[in-house]
Amino acid sequence: MTSRKVVLIGLDGLRPDMIRVETTPHLATWRSRGVTFANHRACFPSDTFVNMASLVTGAPPQGHGLIANDFPAAASGVRAAFHGASIASVDRFIAAAGGALYGATSLGEHLAAHCMSLSVICSCSPGGARLLHHTAADHRHLVIAMRENQRHDDREPRNVRDENGADSDSDGDGDGDGDGEAVGDILSRQVDLFFGLIADDALPEMTVLWFGEPDDAWHAHGFTAPRGLRALHRLDGQIGRIIDWWEHVGGSNGVQLMVMSDHGHVTQGKKASVRTILEDAGFSVAGAGEEGDADVTIVPGAAAGLWLAGNNDALARDLSSALQASPACGLLFSKGKNNVDGWLPGTFARSLVMLEHERAPDLVMTLAECENQDGTGRAVYYDGGGEPGASTHGGLTRDEMACCFMAAGDLFKEGVTINGFSGVRDIAPTLLRVLGVGRPRSMTGRVLSEAFAGGRSDGAENRREVETVGAAGYAQRLSRVRAGGAIYLDEGTRVE
Ligand SMILES: [Zn+2]
Repeated sequence: MTSRKVVLIGLDGLRPDMIRVETTPHLATWRSRGVTFANHRACFPSDTFVNMASLVTGAPPQGHGLIANDFPAAASGVRAAFHGASIASVDRFIAAAGGALYGATSLGEHLAAHCMSLSVICSCSPGGARLLHHTAADHRHLVIAMRENQRHDDREPRNVRDENGADSDSDGDGDGDGDGEAVGDILSRQVDLFFGLIADDALPEMTVLWFGEPDDAWHAHGFTAPRGLRALHRLDGQIGRIIDWWEHVGGSNGVQLMVMSDHGHVTQGKKASVRTILEDAGFSVAGAGEEGDADVTIVPGAAAGLWLAGNNDALARDLSSALQASPACGLLFSKGKNNVDGWLPGTFARSLVMLEHERAPDLVMTLAECENQDGTGRAVYYDGGGEPGASTHGGLTRDEMACCFMAAGDLFKEGVTINGFSGVRDIAPTLLRVLGVGRPRSMTGRVLSEAFAGGRSDGAENRREVETVGAAGYAQRLSRVRAGGAIYLDEGTRVE
């Protein structure tokens, strides 16, 4: 057994192209001390709770079963709705599922089985703290949800972006910006708590420090707006405190420091409503918490989930065609007819994006790209809170799928950028390698051996696979990259 330890910093929603000397001086400087993965990708949907599950299980959504940030009770298989932002909802779901939050072994469970410990200090929505280590109480591991008392934490499933808009106004000035002093205090207390662990000589084998920024500020303002940049800069200041400790103390004591994000962000262009599109086409629609016998239940978002009533093939076909007729429809997935095509004309198979699970919606729809509000650059339709120019995520654009992973320490290469593909579910197997622990069978991500000193130069051979399907007046394309036995979702788009 080694004496090495891992500290993993999660920066919610950080786009890799926003790590620059001007925007994030500490991070930009530190990353030259280790390995940077330049083509790191999220799992789909590119949402936090889906990717947190992939982080801690090393499995894709169809492996761990959290196929969306929110899903209705009828789809859950255990008669409890799932709302990842809420500890109360996650706990009800776990209880209903007889303790099995994931269909795969989690890092916390696995480390406990090897007499190691995982600590979590989390400042995103409180449910995130539970998802990062749901069995912590059983093992007497430390989990701190920084914002448990800052938010209303028990509500019906809804669009998480609405919640960010409504609840991130921690500075109390009524504009929901999430970039005021109170948020700054939370981030700084979070780092203080981490230093408290060190002062008490209580740093476990593995620590996850998950920060709710820059995601909250970017949902409110966009990632290029002054307030979005200010929130990022302030976050970098707090990360700088940890980097400073690592440079002077931690690194020379065997601590391997890793920094990741769970997804990127894309600019919101035009407002759209999946519900309105379907109602205008004559379908009856219910939201996830609504009763009744509607044709379809929807959970809106950048990747909307649609669950159809009964086994009505004609209804499914009509509904799929109505979506495809809307310019706001991006990619569309249904149950697979084969490895590429969904059973509904023009749709992709859910398995193509590793979403083939009994809980998966009958139809998953991303929102299409559109013009930016000022006619410049790339944006997407959005079906949630906030204004045009703010940003969002959940879909399959490159902006949303690209995320960060960097690692430094005596086990890793120094000053190296790796251009081969990697993804969120590779992180757990890689850090288990650092700790000298084998991985559970359900952990299907790969060890990023190219990051380790003495490892291959640029990883496994990368092979791109592009699939296109279409139906009358509609076509979509998905680009994936195969590397080292793993597959990564690079980007998807509607094609004209
Ligand atoms: Zn977000």
